Amino acid sequence: MSYNKRSFELGSKRSVIREIFEYSKARKAEIGNDKVFDFSLGNPSVKPPEEVKEAIVSILNESDPTVVHGYTSAQGDARVRKAVSDNIAARFGVKMSPDLIYMTCGAAASLSICLKALLDKDDEVIVFAPFFTEYSVFITNADGKVVVSMPESKTFQVDVADFESRISPRTKAVIINSPNNPSGVVYTKDTVEKVCEALRRKSCEYKKDIYLIADEPYRELVYGDVEVPYIMNYYKNSLVCYSYSKSLSLPGERIGYIAVNPEADCAQEIYLAVCGAGRSLGYVCAPSLFQRVAARCVNTKVNIAPYKENRDILYGNLTDFGFECVKPDGAFYLFVKSPDVSATAFYEKAKKYELLVVPCDDFGIEGYVRIAYCVDKSAIVGSLPYFKALAQDYGL
Ligand code: PLP
Repeated sequence: MSYNKRSFELGSKRSVIREIFEYSKARKAEIGNDKVFDFSLGNPSVKPPEEVKEAIVSILNESDPTVVHGYTSAQGDARVRKAVSDNIAARFGVKMSPDLIYMTCGAAASLSICLKALLDKDDEVIVFAPFFTEYSVFITNADGKVVVSMPESKTFQVDVADFESRISPRTKAVIINSPNNPSGVVYTKDTVEKVCEALRRKSCEYKKDIYLIADEPYRELVYGDVEVPYIMNYYKNSLVCYSYSKSLSLPGERIGYIAVNPEADCAQEIYLAVCGAGRSLGYVCAPSLFQRVAARCVNTKVNIAPYKENRDILYGNLTDFGFECVKPDGAFYLFVKSPDVSATAFYEKAKKYELLVVPCDDFGIEGYVRIAYCVDKSAIVGSLPYFKALAQDYGL
């Protein structure tokens, strides 16, 4: 056998979410679509804003097709990068430059590129549990080592003492994801400040740069008056991985960007390393049409009211039924403590009630499940009697 063993293992081992997705399809075929409550996938249920369609149509009508469908510069079209850069400057007061923007195929590509750009072999990357499972894949692929920092048990904010204890002379980067998948928690200004202070202290102690990578696909999905601190305003050696997958409901179009903080030490060199990493991974010239759509829609975002309504119904009812949930301020996930010792046992029992939730052991925390509430409201409302019966089954 001459193929790569790590790649084979990745390709042949189905993720839990994939398993549930396959089960869901089979079960729906068996008993009917509306009888199965599938809360497994983080696929936006709100349609893209009208402006997206208008932008697509007008770009296609007005532009030379060989340009619109042609290659752009490897790092993205210059005018698109300018639009993104101006938007960051206007929204967050950062002195951004188009020459520090790299257009990508979504946050997954952004993260892979940033890690490849920054890491040397066996460098450590700290992630805050609970975390998006693919981080381990991206970090390992960049020859790095995953180090997990556990959260405060009630709020799921960062446990700063735990975090600081994980920073070692091998730490090269930290990934922070807010609003968080899978907890829905938004890290407060206080949390972000403390994380950054700890990083500055340790950078000084170890006499090395440690980078903070903000993974931000859910930045625009926050409910109420909640602020998502912009990392560049708190820590200079930082990069932002942004995606339009959720903010414009375009996950299948694969579009996002990396922004390097202009205040970072050697910002231009870091950007060149980003360009080199993009090149070596083959992530060059992000989808041309959707680069242009993103540039026209920099100030547009999806209607988040349906997500908020789903959150309120689900959180209110599940806590009434006796489930312990983290109140999510953003994203579209509810993180529920398993009444069973094992999250997998809870998942199996929920399945008997036709409720498909995701056991979160692979997200770095045991004993929790994730409910993706980016579904139609009718599914949320329809699932409530089943959640109630499930709670009674556990004697809650
Ligand atoms: N990061 C987090 C936390 C996510 O939840 C996701 C997707 O769900 C991604 C990154 C990847 O997003 P994209 O579709 O932009 O590649």
